[in-house]
Formats: sequence, structure tokens, C-alpha cells
Amino acid sequence: VGVAARLYTEDDPLVILSGSSLQPAVTNSSSAWLVQFYSSWCGHCIQYSSTWKTLAQDVQDWQRVIRVAVLDCAQEQNFDVCKEFSIKFYPTFKYFRAHAAATDKGTIYRGADRQIQSVRQLMVNILQNHTRLDWPDHCPPLEPYSSVELLPLLGRRSDHFLVIIVEEPDSFVGREVILDLLQFSGVEVRRALTSDLPLLDALKITTFPSVYLLHPNGTHTHLHVEKCLRFFFVSFLRTLPGVQRSSSSSSVAQMGALPDTQSTEPWRDFNRSKVYTADLESALHYLLRVELATHNALEGEELKVFKDFVILVAKLYPVGGSVVKLMETLSDWLLSLPLQRIPYQAILDLVDNKMRISGVFLGAELRWVGCQGSRVGLRGYPCSLWTLFHVLTVQHEATPTALENTGLEGESAPVLQVMRRYIGTFFGCEECGRHFEQAAADGLDAVQDPEQQIQWLWNQHNMVNSRLAGSLSDDPLFPKAPWPSPALCASCHEETNGVHVWNQDNVLRFLRHHYGASNLSPRSRS
Ligand code: FAD
Repeated sequence: VGVAARLYTEDDPLVILSGSSLQPAVTNSSSAWLVQFYSSWCGHCIQYSSTWKTLAQDVQDWQRVIRVAVLDCAQEQNFDVCKEFSIKFYPTFKYFRAHAAATDKGTIYRGADRQIQSVRQLMVNILQNHTRLDWPDHCPPLEPYSSVELLPLLGRRSDHFLVIIVEEPDSFVGREVILDLLQFSGVEVRRALTSDLPLLDALKITTFPSVYLLHPNGTHTHLHVEKCLRFFFVSFLRTLPGVQRSSSSSSVAQMGALPDTQSTEPWRDFNRSKVYTADLESALHYLLRVELATHNALEGEELKVFKDFVILVAKLYPVGGSVVKLMETLSDWLLSLPLQRIPYQAILDLVDNKMRISGVFLGAELRWVGCQGSRVGLRGYPCSLWTLFHVLTVQHEATPTALENTGLEGESAPVLQVMRRYIGTFFGCEECGRHFEQAAADGLDAVQDPEQQIQWLWNQHNMVNSRLAGSLSDDPLFPKAPWPSPALCASCHEETNGVHVWNQDNVLRFLRHHYGASNLSPRSRS
């Protein structure tokens, strides 16, 4: 059962059903269900699990209207239910309509093609095949609208954006975008067809799919995106002013352990394509004066972790000046002390007083710029810590000899290893540390060089983003989403067989630039 249970885990964005939960879940549900009955000893099911997880991730935002689930028929407690539901082969895919009767044992999907795009399109068809009577509670209309319904809306004011996607009848993009925006308020998406000539005429649309935007103030425009792909449309529409996730349902926030890190300061305009030294300095300020302060003294492993962190920053901080001087002094001091135990107060004295005498000190306050949150308690410190470590991975690649003779040069991923130890030892959010340690234990061995180090952290950060999308720590002004967005790096995004994929080379190029020394901005306005 051990291995069997682990084919899918609670961290996957799908529902793990069992003998006792299947029937109650699918009976009279407000949403439809697509369930994969598998067997954990079936080789094909094991191979297929990564596709199913990617699918579940891809349609995570559709879960209010259709849910993706799995049930393991190899587990003893599921034997009966698999028999009752007539599961003879693995995997078997069954879907259940919304509001299904208790006697409904589901409909088998026999399609030969189990690739993500085909299954996703099946899901759209499942939804669309509902009748008015059993329509899933939260599902918007998926049928096309006509020019008779749409044209009168031009020029009208409204309290939200209206988006018209004009596409070929067999295109799924419009319906997928409608479902992708299901959990977002401030925007409504409708679909129209290329056969509607009066509409094409009025909106002057000649290419498909096309997106037409009706603004709340009554103006209307064609939407230009670099690539006419679902991901580009969705990413743009989700960042329109006033558009935000309407629920915090998809995951639970675990940030309770992190204190508020901001005061109510005036908003500073900033450019999302820059990295701000104010954020990096505030990260260090917070780390030294707040996070460390919860430890009365540093000794043993803690002291070692702290020393390594200070050395890493001293050697890899990309711009000279007070930060580097402070970290160098601190690291010289830590290395010169023969003590096994250093009271926190001694570190604070050094940071506060000795530095000030020599005119070298870190910003005396927290000043978030790129890490400002829309309200107190959002973003701030954790945002700046991610930023700092991304900068350090890029700088490590740019200056490969910087860590020589520090004791860190022997590690194949020194920045990540120091980060792992720092997060595990000091980071105030324990749950975050646990997750990060798990990811590091699973994947850090494979990181062999500085380039992979940059990529690993980027990828890991995106996994955290996707886990946290819609959670309570999600700032509505900075919704968690795959990063960089198409607006920051269009060439980073591609589509293969209808599924979004990253262009890894372009992502790496982008990361080197974005977190490189030349993109660091000392001022809040770029
Ligand atoms: P952040 O995720 O903090 O990102 C900061 C900035 O980095 C973004 O504004 C963007 O410019 C850039 N960025 C975004 N994605 C990427 C990427 N993939 N690669 C490179 N740059 C990127 N919170 C929890 O609730 N649960 C957790 O388990 C959890 N684990 C964490 C683990 C670590 C190691 C850290 C440092 C933080 C963790 N947090 C966790 C906090 C959470 O990830 C965010 O930092 C916090 O919610 C603030 O979010 P943010 O919107 O400022 O963006």
C-alpha cells in the first residue's frame, strides 16, 4: 500500500477518492467529475500518472465546475467500489455529470487518445453536454453568443470587463479561457463564431482566434497579444485592473507563522521588469534584526548556517557598497571568533554600532519597492528573500570563482544548499521550510552546475506559486501565476500539442538578465 498510495499525493491538484468517498462525492454534486480508476501495480498507470497530474494542474481553475480525481483499485479498501463501478481494466476513465443520481455509475470515456489536450477537450464537452436542468452550478454559458446579443453592448458602461473571443466553431480556446477565468471576478468572457459576419464586420476582425475587449468605461478595443494562445489570453485578462481571484478556495494559506512585515507606507511606483536594491537590503535588514532576533544565541549548526549565509552574500552580492562591506565585516568577525556560541545581541551590536562608526550600515528601515504588498502582511519579507536568492544564483554563474576558499566551493549547488539550510533553520514560516526541504531532498542532487542552479530555483518557485494560487497569502494585486508572465517574456512561452510549455533556453536567458547586476535598480522609479 505504501508505494501504491504515493502514485498521487495530497500535494497534487486533484482529488484522491476512496471506496467510502467516491459515491458521496459524485452524487448530486454541484460540479461534474472526471475520475481515473487506476491500479498502482499497473506499469502503464505509473507512467501515465505524470500526464494526469499535468492535466489536473492545467485545469486546476476549473474545479468549481468539473473536478479531476483518482481512485486506486489496488488498495484493499477500494476493491468493492471498483467492482461496483465495473472497473475491469486500468486505467478506466469515467465521468459523472453534475447533479448525478445516486444510481449513476458514471460514463466510460473510451477515447484512444489520452493526451492532455484531448482529455481537456473531453472535459469541455462533458460540461457542454449538460442540460439546462443539471447544468453545473457555477458554470458560465459555453455556447457562442450572436452579434444580436453582443453588438448592443458596445459603448455601454458596466462594472466589469467583457471579453469576446471570436473563433472557428471547432476551436476550444474560447471555452478554455472562459473556464480558466471562472474563479476571477471583474471579467466575463463570451465566445462568438467566425460565421457571424455582422460581428466580424462591426469589430473589424480578420484573424482567429481574436479577442475583443469591452472596458467598463464603455470604450472597446482589439486585444493584441504576441501569440494567440490560451496562456497569453488568460495571463493578460487576469491582470486587467480590477480583475482578481474571487475565492481563496484552492489551497490553504500557511503563512500564519510569518509576522506582518510592513508598515502603512505610501505606495511607491515601480517597474515589474526591474529588481530593486531596496528590497534586497530590506531582506537583510529584516533577516538580521527580526528573524535572527528570535534566537537568543547562535550555536552549533545554527551558527554554521548563519556564517555560510553571511559568506555567501558577502561574496555574491552583485553591487559593491555598504551591504557587501557589512557582510564582509560580519563574516570576518564570525570567522575570527573562536566561540562556539554567539549571543544574538553581539551580532546586533556589530550590525548597529560598529558599522555606524565606520559609516557602513544597512538601510535603517524596511522599505519594500518591488515587494510592496497591497496591504500589510502581504509580500514583503518572503518576496524579498526569494528575490535575494534568485539574484545570488545568477551572480554565482556570472562569477564562478567568487566562492573559492570559502568552504562552499566544493558544493555543486552552493547557493541552493545555503538557502536550504537557512530556510530550514531560521525562516519563520515552518510549513514553508518543510515544503522547501522536501523539494530540496527530492531534487537538489541532480543540480550539477550554476546554470542548473538558476533553473532549479526558478522551477521550484513556480511550483510554490502554483500551490499557493488563490490562497490567503495571494496578494490580489500580484496574483500567484507562472512566472515570468508573457508580458515580461513572451519568448519564454510556447505551446506543444495544446499544452503550455516553457522555452527553457529563453527562460534562462531572461533570468540571467532579470536577476543580473545590470538590472538592479537603486531607485523606486525606473
Ligand atoms: P513571491 O512568490 O514571494 O515572489 C517574489 C517575486 O519573485 C515575484 O514578485 C516575481 O517578481 C518573482 N518571481 C515569481 N516567481 C518566480 C519564479 N518562478 N522564478 C523567479 N522569480 C519569480 N508561503 C506559503 O504560504 N506556503 C509555503 O509553503 C511557502 N513556501 C515558501 C518557501 C520559500 C523558500 C520562501 C522564500 C517563501 C515561501 N512562501 C510560502 C511564501 C510565498 O512563496 C511568497 O513569498 C509570499 O506569499 C509573497 O508572495 P509574492 O506575491 O510577493 O511573490
